[in-house]
Amino acid sequence: MIIDDQHYDVIIVGTGAGGGTLVHKLASTGKKILVLERGKFLNKESSELEDVEVFKKELYHAPEQWYDINGEPFYPQTSYSVGGNTKVYSGALLRFRERDFEQVQHQDGISPAWPLKYSEFEPYYTQAEQLYRAHGRVGDDPTEPPRSAGYPFPAVEHEANIQDICGLLAKQGLHPSYLPIGLGQQGRTDAEDTGVTPAVEQYSNVTLKTAAKVVRLLTNPTGTAVKAVQAEIAGQAYLFLADVIVLSCGAINSAALLLRSANEKHPTGLANRSDQVGRNLMKQLMTVIAQRSPQANSGLFQRSVYFNDFYWGDADFPYPMGHVQNAGGILQDVIFSEAPPLLSILAKAMPGFGLRQLATRTLGWWLQTEDLPNPENRVRFNNEKIYLDYTPNNLEAHDRLLYHWQEALKEVDRAAGQSIFAQNIHPHGGTPIQVVAHQCGTCRFGEDPATSVLDLNCRTHDIDNLYVVDSSFFPSNAAVSPALTVIANALRVGDHLIGRLG
Ligand SMILES: Cc1cc2nc3c(=O)[nH]c(=O)nc-3n(C[C@H](O)[C@H](O)[C@H](O)COP(=O)(O)OP(=O)(O)OC[C@H]3O[C@@H](n4cnc5c(N)ncnc54)[C@H](O)[C@@H]3O)c2cc1C
Repeated sequence: MIIDDQHYDVIIVGTGAGGGTLVHKLASTGKKILVLERGKFLNKESSELEDVEVFKKELYHAPEQWYDINGEPFYPQTSYSVGGNTKVYSGALLRFRERDFEQVQHQDGISPAWPLKYSEFEPYYTQAEQLYRAHGRVGDDPTEPPRSAGYPFPAVEHEANIQDICGLLAKQGLHPSYLPIGLGQQGRTDAEDTGVTPAVEQYSNVTLKTAAKVVRLLTNPTGTAVKAVQAEIAGQAYLFLADVIVLSCGAINSAALLLRSANEKHPTGLANRSDQVGRNLMKQLMTVIAQRSPQANSGLFQRSVYFNDFYWGDADFPYPMGHVQNAGGILQDVIFSEAPPLLSILAKAMPGFGLRQLATRTLGWWLQTEDLPNPENRVRFNNEKIYLDYTPNNLEAHDRLLYHWQEALKEVDRAAGQSIFAQNIHPHGGTPIQVVAHQCGTCRFGEDPATSVLDLNCRTHDIDNLYVVDSSFFPSNAAVSPALTVIANALRVGDHLIGRLG
């Protein structure tokens, strides 16, 4: 074991939406910061050909296996790289709706209230949209929450096909709304080029170690503080020391790391007096509908539109159903990678040309429904393996959203005088287990140490110098995408940490 001879003010583990944003926030304090990231730098694939390659090689999946509730192995859809999942995400940067922070009755149960409300997150949402260069437009979506500022950049225009379909959907009384997207010079903004790389280049007090996988946190003998972070770098074990430790490994890996760091004083896992670490795993119900495109499209374009008409329900079903957004070009969004095995095999067997042809004749729609926290849906760590016990809930709400959207698209077809509608790609029952893109909830924040893992500053109730700043903290999910809320929260906790570090 090599003990690093430096002592840091802060160690941040993981560089995704949470960790990468926090690095940005803390860099200018002059505090000595060590950033440990298990992945390496990942170049964005820019050309169409490369996108086909990315798809075929499943580069969006981690090179490790996790296990489902039956012990069956799978490759999780998660990216280990500098920037984390923002390196592969679609850049849709939506605020949670005001009511997402309140207790809401769903058809299948209650979505609990957050201990902090939308108004406390609002200033940080504004900062997050500026930092990640959100392009959007206010005023089209009736569920849009109040804002202290407009979007910093104008909305992305729709691809011609999408524009036509939006017109037909609007005639049905629906509200096409410009999807807020984070865009920089090089394409989608992410936590690496927004947070990590500028911090490392501009501030000598920030040190980044890549390919550094943290495997355990070690406490003092009384278990009241984390004293050291153990990491594996090039097959060698290292110990790093700091005053404050922040986990930002993503909701599943942060929980797994706390669980695997169990010791005499924390026999069921670090900071797990509440027995809530790893529980309440949520990941949204997601379905992709593929629609054959009336005209050829470019196959490569930004997502640009969303619909929240069914977000809070309708007259027949007074419960939330969810959110719909268009997939970008099929090649770009790589949606077939999570298709059922047969379709996936067929698509992968096609030569690159065939796949591109398919992509330019297809439009995709993502349907997302909130799943509800259930303590039995959980991350477990056993025999050095990560298990996800996850049974989807709130399925009827998702089915109803699916039904409404299919009906809406059929109506578009009728209005356009053609038959272009295709079936949904994911089978009934929703998202495969390996789709963990919108994972959250495994270390929820709250005021009561008996029922939550983190306090309102995302510090663990049990260990004074240990924080978790990623999607773990969500006490309930939403149906819109999570990254902007993770980013806004990292900026919020960053303010607290700046105060603490002095
Ligand atoms: C294909 C895809 C598309 C998506 N599209 C969108 C979208 O359009 N809009 C949206 O809002 N959200 C989207 N998401 C979700 C979004 O990317 C996540 O919500 C967000 O990145 C979560 O941030 P995080 O900080 O919790 O974790 P992550 O971004 O996952 O970052 C975790 C980091 O920790 C590192 N790490 C993990 N374990 C260790 C360890 N033991 N030691 C050291 N480092 C470790 C990882 O390598 C990674 O860098 C998408 C996700 C995927 C996969």
